[in-house]
Amino acid sequence: GSFASMGLAAPLLTAIENLGFTQPTPVQAEAIPAAINGGDWMVSSQTGSGKTAAFLLPVLNAIMSGSENSPIDLHRVIGPAGLVLCPTRELAQQVAQDAIDLLKNSKGVRVATVMGGMPYGKQMAGLRGALLVVATPGRLLDLAQRRQIHLADVKTLVVDEADRMLDLGFAEDLEDINHLCQKREQTLMFSATFAPRIMSLASRLMKSPGRLEL
Ligand code: AMP
Repeated sequence: GSFASMGLAAPLLTAIENLGFTQPTPVQAEAIPAAINGGDWMVSSQTGSGKTAAFLLPVLNAIMSGSENSPIDLHRVIGPAGLVLCPTRELAQQVAQDAIDLLKNSKGVRVATVMGGMPYGKQMAGLRGALLVVATPGRLLDLAQRRQIHLADVKTLVVDEADRMLDLGFAEDLEDINHLCQKREQTLMFSATFAPRIMSLASRLMKSPGRLEL
């Protein structure tokens, strides 16, 4: 398939073209249509496979849903509609930059990055009106517990590099964040492997997920 046949909003297709992505990578060809169709998904993927766009495009498409270039009504939303969790600051910054690149042609959809080691004031100011938040789990929970971020409006939750999340001891934080996303409609989990400990985490965060093994 092609990007054009996936049902993505026009501004996203323009951005994809401007980035020079002519063909979807294998993980994109599988995961984007599956995620747009709905339900929870576990996706195996390696760094360099194009996995970031494979989860960002469905999340951004959901945020912009309503076709054309009309995002969710900003006046009615107090928290982000999409949340991407990354195990490290470096990854969070890269994912946020990729999201900004994919949003070059979309008006009104702002991205905020939340991660440890950044001043609180700047981070909290950046959260205002952001429809997509890319975060590391510890700082996100910290802000949620201080009531500086409202997670109940999150419709789509993505857990990137779930295997590294477990290695870094984030399992409990992920479960706490999961409980705060009360109106979540979809969870996407990306991991290098489907080892039993990953499947166990998946069963705590998702409802009978489909599996895409690439
Ligand atoms: P990732 O696996 O998400 O870290 O992506 C690896 C690299 O592939 C990044 O530099 C992306 O910009 C690039 N990339 C992602 N999707 C495509 C595509 N469909 N065609 C060409 N390059 C891509």
